[in-house]
Amino acid sequence: MTAMALRNAEQYKESLRDGRAVYFRGERVSDVTLHPVIGLAVEHAATDYRMAEDPRYSELAVVSEGAERYSRYYQVPASAADLLKRKELIAASTREGATLVVLIKEIGTDALFALHVVGTQMARAGHPEYRERISRFHRHCRDQDLAVAVAQTDVKGDRSLGPGAQADPDLYVRVVAERPDGVIVRGAKVHTSVATNANEIIVLPTRAMRPEDRAWAIAFAVPANAPGLKLIASPHGSAPKDPIEHPISARHKMIETLTVFDDVFIPNERIFLRGETEFSGTLALDFVRFHRFTAISYKLPLLELMAGAAHAVAEANGILRAAHVRDKLTQLAAYHTIVRGLTDYAAISCTVEEGVAVANTLLTNVAKYHFAHHYHQAVQIVQDLAGGLLVTAPAAEDLASEATSAYVRKYLGGSPGFDAERRFRLLNMIGDLTASDFGGYQEVLAVHAEGGLEAEKLQAYREYDFKSAADYARRLAGI
Ligand SMILES: Cc1cc2nc3c(=O)[nH]c(=O)nc-3n(C[C@H](O)[C@H](O)[C@H](O)COP(=O)(O)OP(=O)(O)OC[C@H]3O[C@@H](n4cnc5c(N)ncnc54)[C@H](O)[C@@H]3O)c2cc1C
Repeated sequence: MTAMALRNAEQYKESLRDGRAVYFRGERVSDVTLHPVIGLAVEHAATDYRMAEDPRYSELAVVSEGAERYSRYYQVPASAADLLKRKELIAASTREGATLVVLIKEIGTDALFALHVVGTQMARAGHPEYRERISRFHRHCRDQDLAVAVAQTDVKGDRSLGPGAQADPDLYVRVVAERPDGVIVRGAKVHTSVATNANEIIVLPTRAMRPEDRAWAIAFAVPANAPGLKLIASPHGSAPKDPIEHPISARHKMIETLTVFDDVFIPNERIFLRGETEFSGTLALDFVRFHRFTAISYKLPLLELMAGAAHAVAEANGILRAAHVRDKLTQLAAYHTIVRGLTDYAAISCTVEEGVAVANTLLTNVAKYHFAHHYHQAVQIVQDLAGGLLVTAPAAEDLASEATSAYVRKYLGGSPGFDAERRFRLLNMIGDLTASDFGGYQEVLAVHAEGGLEAEKLQAYREYDFKSAADYARRLAGI
């Protein structure tokens, strides 16, 4: 395939007008780019394409190799330096996205890197066909500069049962018919971020499988407009928003879907795992190893903002010198610094597996767990320092109205330099970040996205060297 130039935001948006079956509150959406809610998610995602054209970012966002130019997300990391650059790019785009990750290339390339590693292992085990398909699909996404979602999490029904033991066999995505030219798949994935506005969706298994689970051990890529694919969008946080009261979420949005495969045909060329149950768990976990590194990279602007917002509002309220305030600010500074330090060190202490640099799994999981476990506590500190106006302040209109403006300006000012309007804007930003539907979304995202708290702990437990630690303990005990 001949390489195409990088796309601009308009070309990206145009590519989403492709007849995809997206539903919002029960209604089919004819054009996602014009939809009042999904259109916002499209604009947010377009940040990625705008950055590639922006001289402030283009060196970071674009790789130039001879005559070829492509998005850095698509560069397979081969070293610690590559991982650090990728972290920098992910953090920079999330900063542009006002702490909301852009994700349309981050998550897809996490899946592609995992597929490269596992595809090579499968080739060694006697399944050479996948590796070539994965490389071709990677080049297709890179050369067309595509936006890619990843649907890994199945709906899962009864969590205590595996795929084949469920009352309904479709609760994990499975193959229902085999054809010489491909397979037909049925089932549903859930929480699929950015699917409404991606070009391709990579589908991965969510867990290890047993030999009898062959039909569920399937990985593939599908265009978002494939016949039989239905994207049922979540309406969470979709009420119209005033940009003064909600300076972040009035402009930035990510949307998840219930992603239904109503007998979708997948041609052989796009199948990356088909019945090799022994590789299902490895593929599921390898994706998560890459994806949690993406997660801790994109959390950094959020943690910086929490510390910065706490400091700014403490100043506005005139409490910056109080001992308890310094203590709380120090906690937020340490929280940000610990996650940042672990993220950098996870990149620096990476391993190169099948030619792909993988960030240190123990450090990545500890960083992600530390972030997730302390997020609500960080929100509590910011809310504590800000005061109750986060949820009781008058409206944006009250600052402008002849009847109310003088009262608001007279009574809602803070310390010198913080008149009512400046303090009000700061409180609105913090309210949007921590006490709005967007704030709730960030909290659930912290707990569950890229795998829940228990999944991170399990991985950290497996990776930590308890053997030598326990040897040391036994030696000092003289046993
Ligand atoms: C905002 C957001 C965006 C996301 N984006 C994506 C995406 O783009 N692509 C994607 O594939 N996924 C995505 N996810 C999914 C995310 O990875 C899952 O939410 C996460 O893995 C938890 O799965 P779940 O939501 O089904 O919860 P559950 O797995 O049902 O977890 C609920 C509780 O049950 C516990 N539990 C579950 N199974 C067991 C068991 N067998 N034994 C004991 N305890 C158990 C869990 O530990 C947890 O305490 C996203 C999630 C969120 C919230």
